[in-house]
Amino acid sequence: MSRNDYDVIIIGAGSVGTPTALFLAQQGFKVLVLDRNPSPGQSSNKRAIGGLRATHSDPAKIKLCLRSLKIFSTWQETYGDDIEWYQGGYCFVAYREEEEKTLREVLPLQKRYGLKIDWLDSDELRKLLPDLNPKGLLGGTLSPEDGHASPLLAVEAFYRQAKRAGAEFKFSSKVEKLVIENGKVAGVVTDKGTHGAGVVVNAAGAWAADIARLAGMEIPVKPDSHEAAVTEPVQRFFDPMIVDLRPVQGSANYYFYQHATGQVIFCITPNPSIWGFDDRETSDFLPMVSRRMIGLMPRLKNIRVRRTWRGLYPMTPDGFPIVGWSREVEGFLLAVGMCGQGFMLGPGVAELLTRLISRNPGPDDEEILSYLSPYRSFISEEKLK
Ligand SMILES: Cc1cc2nc3c(=O)[nH]c(=O)nc-3n(C[C@H](O)[C@H](O)[C@H](O)COP(=O)(O)OP(=O)(O)OC[C@H]3O[C@@H](n4cnc5c(N)ncnc54)[C@H](O)[C@@H]3O)c2cc1C
Repeated sequence: MSRNDYDVIIIGAGSVGTPTALFLAQQGFKVLVLDRNPSPGQSSNKRAIGGLRATHSDPAKIKLCLRSLKIFSTWQETYGDDIEWYQGGYCFVAYREEEEKTLREVLPLQKRYGLKIDWLDSDELRKLLPDLNPKGLLGGTLSPEDGHASPLLAVEAFYRQAKRAGAEFKFSSKVEKLVIENGKVAGVVTDKGTHGAGVVVNAAGAWAADIARLAGMEIPVKPDSHEAAVTEPVQRFFDPMIVDLRPVQGSANYYFYQHATGQVIFCITPNPSIWGFDDRETSDFLPMVSRRMIGLMPRLKNIRVRRTWRGLYPMTPDGFPIVGWSREVEGFLLAVGMCGQGFMLGPGVAELLTRLISRNPGPDDEEILSYLSPYRSFISEEKLK
């Protein structure tokens, strides 16, 4: 094995690994992406419902996702591919004082970090969303610059452009070992062969802890299973992604939007969490989520569901990703633990990784990395998970 086969090997051609390959290849790095699946985006990426927001409660995710939104929203004019970007905004609704308090408390920080976001009282919100149940509605926040896009089309677009920029992809190749020499990463061993590189990026999603273990690191990333569904298409009757943070028996928050092509797409956070790799659909999901959605927007009661599916959130204990260099093995870079937000974080994280590998930090990187450090205590809690 020659150590210089590649400059960078990325493990995982998903929401994070694929745009990372693109931006690194554009900077002239010789990049190899390895994935055990036969094509890009076949694990969590294709299970995402496509929500894209910079509306978060911490500076790191706000900044990364503002960059992602810029990349997604200008993708078609820059590269030509239609990824079904739609700027419908995000609306977090409040029916209880608890949620109103949470949402109002984070507004000053959100505005300070550049988000266009405001609190709307219940009358203003009903003008925007006349089908919202008015009973008990206190108001909500609206961030009109958020939106959605197709995770399937987007990962394909990143993949095509990454290849055009010179990145290589090897599919059906499972990484089984890291080659480590004198404390430095020197390559990876797959079930198909060995490849050398001085930098290896762990972008292995729900399997990231297994890959980290190959470098002797224990990282708290665990797969947490979530279900989603899509309805038949109907004429547009609302624009923003609607998020309801109220916890009830059996579930925490849920969110839904009407896609550019008319379907309503939705998912819910089970409570307690369902840990593990099982991704078979359950019969509990649809009655649980539809009851809540119809309560919030009674007009939805007549729409027919076409399909449900289940996938994995690569969860961390505090709900924040893990991004940064390993202290144990030089040249091993982590970009994992994206939780329920890896699609929206993908391009922003990919740019950050490219700056880290180029040793060309941006003015905000130190602050962003302090929130996402692999060596943080993991005790804080994301308010808008
Ligand atoms: C129902 C549902 C709805 C969601 N909705 C949204 C949403 O609206 N917006 C949003 O931003 N996010 C959403 N998400 C979350 C999002 O899908 C994930 O956060 C994101 O896809 C994680 O990206 P990733 O690149 O870390 O992992 P993945 O996209 O899963 O990529 C990891 C890749 O690593 C590969 N891999 C793993 N181990 C190995 C190995 N040993 N060798 C080779 N390859 C390996 C896998 O095959 C996989 O392709 C949703 C998730 C679910 C399940």
